[in-house]
Amino acid sequence: MNRNKIVAGNWKMNLAKNDAIKLTEDLVSDSIPEGVKVILAPSFVHLDRVGKLLEGQSSISLAAQNVHAAEKGAYTGEISVDMIKSYGCSYALVGHSERRAYFNESHELLAQKIDALLKNGLSAIFCVGEPLEIRKDGSYKEYVSQQINDSLFHLDASQLDAIILAYEPIWAIGTGETASPEQAQEMHQHIREMISEKYGEAKAEALHILYGGSVKPANATDLFSQADVDGGLVGGASLKAEDFKSIIHYK
Ligand code: PEP
Repeated sequence: MNRNKIVAGNWKMNLAKNDAIKLTEDLVSDSIPEGVKVILAPSFVHLDRVGKLLEGQSSISLAAQNVHAAEKGAYTGEISVDMIKSYGCSYALVGHSERRAYFNESHELLAQKIDALLKNGLSAIFCVGEPLEIRKDGSYKEYVSQQINDSLFHLDASQLDAIILAYEPIWAIGTGETASPEQAQEMHQHIREMISEKYGEAKAEALHILYGGSVKPANATDLFSQADVDGGLVGGASLKAEDFKSIIHYK
């Protein structure tokens, strides 16, 4: 199947207001190649401004980096699906390894966040990936299978349309070390096979599986040309307009 590519930028806890505006303006003034969709995930406080700058164009969408699973209520400091939706978000990241590690997000909680997003018509960019010791001991496919099984496989086939998967080996995030195109392809193919077994071939073929972990202009072309790699979730390199633009124009 000919899936379009998705290039998503996760700004994490970076960029103050003016820098976020400048970066967005720079990206909006660029032409996005046909067959590529861009998603920006700024911090919550920038969603309003970034969202306004994205109005009127269709190639760049807005994502939140996180969301709370509850509809509303006494959760001081948290942000609901309804709130991010009202600022124009179509997506939220769920299960990023930093949130799993630093905020102890469990498989169960991630499943609840996915449910909350889907219930409100948003999509989840669900991140999975193994730590270095698991890569080294060779059980990385089983590890990622478990993550998918525990947080995603309660969905029915129609709900899968609202999921983008991101394979992000933890040993490659923010480390400068990238999975080789072959390592990425091996895992992406494995994930697609898993999805096919559970939901059927058509759903598996339609699913976008992004690679994340030190994607940069120098490696984007090789990674994105793998058969099962449908683009990237980009951290560090999404903060520099020139780098991010050259990843978007990876061909
Ligand atoms: C990420 O945060 O999802 C990520 C992949 O970061 P980096 O590109 O900096 O490795």
